[in-house]
Amino acid sequence: MNKIVIGIFAHPDDESFGTGGSLALYKKQGIPTYVITATDGVLGGEDKNIVQVRKEELNKASKILQLSGHYELGFADGSLSNNMYQKVLSKLVAQVKEIVGSEPGEVTFITFDRTGITGHLDHIAMSMITTYLYQHLDKLVPSIAKAQLHYFCLSKEQRPKSDKTYFVYCPCGCDEDEIDISLDVSSVLDIKKRAILAHASQNPKAILASGDKLLATEHFIIYKDDK
Ligand SMILES: [Zn+2]
Repeated sequence: MNKIVIGIFAHPDDESFGTGGSLALYKKQGIPTYVITATDGVLGGEDKNIVQVRKEELNKASKILQLSGHYELGFADGSLSNNMYQKVLSKLVAQVKEIVGSEPGEVTFITFDRTGITGHLDHIAMSMITTYLYQHLDKLVPSIAKAQLHYFCLSKEQRPKSDKTYFVYCPCGCDEDEIDISLDVSSVLDIKKRAILAHASQNPKAILASGDKLLATEHFIIYKDDK
């Protein structure tokens, strides 16, 4: 059965800052990897061409990560509120269908954990919308034969405390017993770091400042049906 990985994120940079190592590692294992980015990142800087700048940065990062494809849904940064939920879902479904084609296969979806990692509401929205998609996959994308949903999260080691310097409530990392998968991405750390640096307008050095040790492991929670 064909296996693919589809990362579903909110902003250009989320794919590299968070899960760049995992995407590069899956690719190295011969699994095609795709990224869907919901918003244009327009709030990510003062430059009047910021949308174009971020589009180019995402293109560059996608090449570095050797993604099989990356797609933008084109929503405005910061706009993913309740009344946009169904619009985002329908564009997301269309995009996933296009990626999957008619070949029945096995898909691993990756998105943010339900706290959105940083508490950013666009992140939380994409986590929820991806969860909805996953729960209704048999009706929304019936060609997918088998799927998993992996929520990217941080560990307590990576973020021991709530980050009170961030502009919204930014929770601490997960306890060890909450984490299902810890991927060692040290073999592709150079690729991950180059992909992070490709997002030059988004202060990538602040991400790299957390150090190789913490960047070299990426943690995930596997979706389990709600009780
Ligand atoms: Zn983001």
